[in-house]
Amino acid sequence: MNYRHIYHAGNFADVFKHIIFARLIEYFKRKDKAFRILDSHAGIGDYDLTSIEAKKTLEWQNGIGKLLKNPPQGELAELLASYFDVVEAQSNGENNIKQSYPGSPRIARHLIRNQDRLSLYELHKDDFETLKQNFGGDYQVKLFHLNGWQGLNAHIPPKEGRGMVLIDPPFEDGKDLDQIIESVAKMHKHWRGGTIAIWYPIKDNNQNAQFHVALKDLEIPNILASEIYLPDAAKPKAEGRMNRRPAMLGCGMIMINPPYVLHGELRKILPYLQNALAVEKLGKRYPAKTNLKWLVEE
Ligand code: SAM
Repeated sequence: MNYRHIYHAGNFADVFKHIIFARLIEYFKRKDKAFRILDSHAGIGDYDLTSIEAKKTLEWQNGIGKLLKNPPQGELAELLASYFDVVEAQSNGENNIKQSYPGSPRIARHLIRNQDRLSLYELHKDDFETLKQNFGGDYQVKLFHLNGWQGLNAHIPPKEGRGMVLIDPPFEDGKDLDQIIESVAKMHKHWRGGTIAIWYPIKDNNQNAQFHVALKDLEIPNILASEIYLPDAAKPKAEGRMNRRPAMLGCGMIMINPPYVLHGELRKILPYLQNALAVEKLGKRYPAKTNLKWLVEE
């Protein structure tokens, strides 16, 4: 387990994932009935952007750094308000620059209501200790120093009956895509109405297409895929070297049982991200590219 999320916190992949995650949580709040969020690969919850690790890659500058310089306007600002609220609630450092960036547990904790619950799984010993420092003693949060895949097996369906799973593994051993397929098949058997959100890196277009086919082959209805690709000019120089991972072409989110409004919302959000995450190089502007498609319709 070499992967440490601190090197990547707040990068383009994180902001893409967290914006969608926040929209999904907001949807559950439309009904009073309690829901639970299960975050199978939680990380530590808060990331210090002034740490030695974050400073080594400076990936956040191509992610949250850009969004804060190009905040959404009008209707879009309303759609993204919950995400930016959590970001704004994090501490500022020198020159009013964000010192800290929220991970998925912090985003979920910030947005859930008194009746809602959060289950966090983190296997890395040190990261689990930090997670405990950040959320220990909070009666709405259950912490598990456990393999997230096993946690999902044991705790799905949650007793609340409503809610969602976020699956966000490190993809460091080449087995996570297969593990996702296996885990989704099992979860869906026991919790047909549950929402499942899966973040995945895109490093190879063929492998990505195979992953989509494997999801379709599960014969589960209602699967939406949204992806973001950065132009070469936007690739962080250190990407791939810090953790010996091949460079990402982009990343995606699979959403199983997404709220019916999400497709329409993403059609507005994705153009904003394309533009806000664009890179200027030698006087030329390179926007990000995105796509949105149903892998399986309802
Ligand atoms: N979801 C977090 C967020 O958005 O802020 C980031 C998670 S990071 C990509 C993946 C995390 O999974 C790392 O903190 C890593 O230590 C942890 N991890 C790796 N293998 C795991 C496993 N089998 N079960 C639970 N956690 C695991």
